[in-house]
Amino acid sequence: MIRRAAVLSLLVAHGVAVAAPDAPRKPKKDLAAAAKSTQHGSPPAPGTRPVKLVNLHNQWTNEWLAVDPARPPSAATVNRFLRDHFTNKSTDMEPKLIGFVLAAAAHFRVDTAQIVSGFRHPKFNLILRKKGHQVARDSQHTHGNAVDFFLPGVTAAQLEAWARAQRWGGVGYYPDSGFVHMDTGPVRTWSGE
Ligand SMILES: [Zn+2]
Repeated sequence: MIRRAAVLSLLVAHGVAVAAPDAPRKPKKDLAAAAKSTQHGSPPAPGTRPVKLVNLHNQWTNEWLAVDPARPPSAATVNRFLRDHFTNKSTDMEPKLIGFVLAAAAHFRVDTAQIVSGFRHPKFNLILRKKGHQVARDSQHTHGNAVDFFLPGVTAAQLEAWARAQRWGGVGYYPDSGFVHMDTGPVRTWSGE
C-alpha cells in the first residue's frame, strides 16, 4: 500500500497542485487540469526507452537546444536559436536547415552538433566583409537560408563529402575553420579557409 505522503510528494514532483492535508480537497477536475498544464506531462510507461536527443549548441550565444529528431522544434524556437547574435535579431529560417543538421548527426551517429552561424543580419554580414572575412555580399545567411556547423568527432572533410552527396543545395567547405556551410540555394560547392 502506498502511503499518502508518498503519493503527495509524487504529485508535487510532477507539478500537480496539491491541497494541504487539512484544507478542503480540490475538485478532481482542477487536479486533472493542473496535471495537463505541466510541461513534461505524465512520466512514460515503464519499459519506454528514452528518446535519443540531438543537442545543438550555438557557439555565439552559448545556447543549447535539445531536439527530438522525430519531432523537430517549432519555427519560433528555431528562428530564435539561429538568430543573429550581433543584432540579436531573428528571421524566418528555412525550416529544412535543422533537418540538414539532424540528418548529418544521424548519419555520423553523433548526439551533438555545433552551430557556427545561422541567420546573419545584413549589418553583421557587412561588418564581417569589411573585416576581410570570407563572406559573400548577398550571403544565403542574410536570407535565413544557410547554416554553418560541424559535428564533434567528425572531420570537416567527412562532413563535406556527405553534404555534397545529398545535393540539397549549396555546400561550402572550410577545412581550416573546421566547419561546413549548407544552404537551400542552387546545388553548388566551393571551399574557403
Ligand atoms: Zn555559411
